Amino acid sequence: MCLDPSTKPGDHLAPRPRYHATVSTWVEIGDRVFVRRYEFYDQNIGVVLSDGAVLVIDTRSTHVQAREIAADLRMLTSYPVTVVVDTHGHFDHAFGNHVFRPATIWGQAGCPTFLTRTAETRRARVARDEPSLATDLAEVVIDPPDQVFETAATIDVGGRPVELRFLGRGHTDHDAVVSIPDADVVFAGDLIEGGNVPFFNDAYPLDWPATADALAALVTGIVVPGHGDHAGHAFTVEQATAIGAVAALARRVDAEDLGLEDAIALTPFPAFPPEDIRAPLKRALAQLRGELS
Ligand SMILES: [Zn+2]
Repeated sequence: MCLDPSTKPGDHLAPRPRYHATVSTWVEIGDRVFVRRYEFYDQNIGVVLSDGAVLVIDTRSTHVQAREIAADLRMLTSYPVTVVVDTHGHFDHAFGNHVFRPATIWGQAGCPTFLTRTAETRRARVARDEPSLATDLAEVVIDPPDQVFETAATIDVGGRPVELRFLGRGHTDHDAVVSIPDADVVFAGDLIEGGNVPFFNDAYPLDWPATADALAALVTGIVVPGHGDHAGHAFTVEQATAIGAVAALARRVDAEDLGLEDAIALTPFPAFPPEDIRAPLKRALAQLRGELS
């Protein structure tokens, strides 16, 4: 259970107005590794190409949005998508899965469970809060990953190894980190975010700092957050530090060393209004008090 009754497991409707619209085009960030930013939630979709094989990382919010990815892929390759990885089961990362069948869909072992458990709640809530998506959402076929891993797996993408890792609980309890070693690129899912405070409503804020540190240790080249600009090691460390500071502030509040409002004022995300860490702090306090499932 959560302290904030408006926050339920599976929620992923953080206000996203600070995301800025971007020109959507494929950007090659490593050898045959591409990212494309879609305006809705300023989301990053990744692609890895090799001989006759196409890997897509995350599938967006509806079958219509996923079909847009498939159409845009024609600019890169004539081959069909052979493998998908869901970085996690939030609707904006996994509701488009079904469009890419019969491709294999990978996720961390907790991803199918999360997606199945939360999908209908999500579908209803997103339809309410994003009315322009309501009709499409009603038609989405929920199609969870059929291939899972616990801590690590290596996928062969046309002879290219792509590594999947679970670094610990963080943004969710099943975040998959995708590394393409021969291109020195890491897709981090929503363990870090560009353009917004990371989303904590399904998070494990006391675990997330160590997970983010482990992510930072993996990043030697380019890192692609789930949303916003792709970046590098320094940004990853900056995010990990801020996520650690949220946990530290919550511990002080829990110890009555600091009031909640004072903790909010000390936000470690100075680019955003301090109020933006109210929900993260509440989630961290809930975990400290044993109120998360
Ligand atoms: Zn997410």
